[in-house]
Amino acid sequence: MGDLAPTSDWPGVHVTRRARGLPASGSYTCRCGTTGRAQGDDNVRDLVAEWIDHRNTCPHR
Ligand SMILES: [Zn+2]
Repeated sequence: MGDLAPTSDWPGVHVTRRARGLPASGSYTCRCGTTGRAQGDDNVRDLVAEWIDHRNTCPHR
C-alpha cells in the first residue's frame, strides 16, 4: 500500500504509517462533516473503500 494522502483534494482521506513494521492508521474528513478513523492495515484498507463509497453517495459533492 502506497502513499494515499491526497495533495489537492482536502478534505479527503489521509493514511499515515509512522515507521516500517508499524500498522498504518488513517482518517478521512468530508465536506459534509462525515469523518472516519481506522488503525491497522486491514481496517485502513476498509476505511479507504468506505471513503470512496461515501464520495459516490455524499449529499455535498
Ligand atoms: Zn460527505
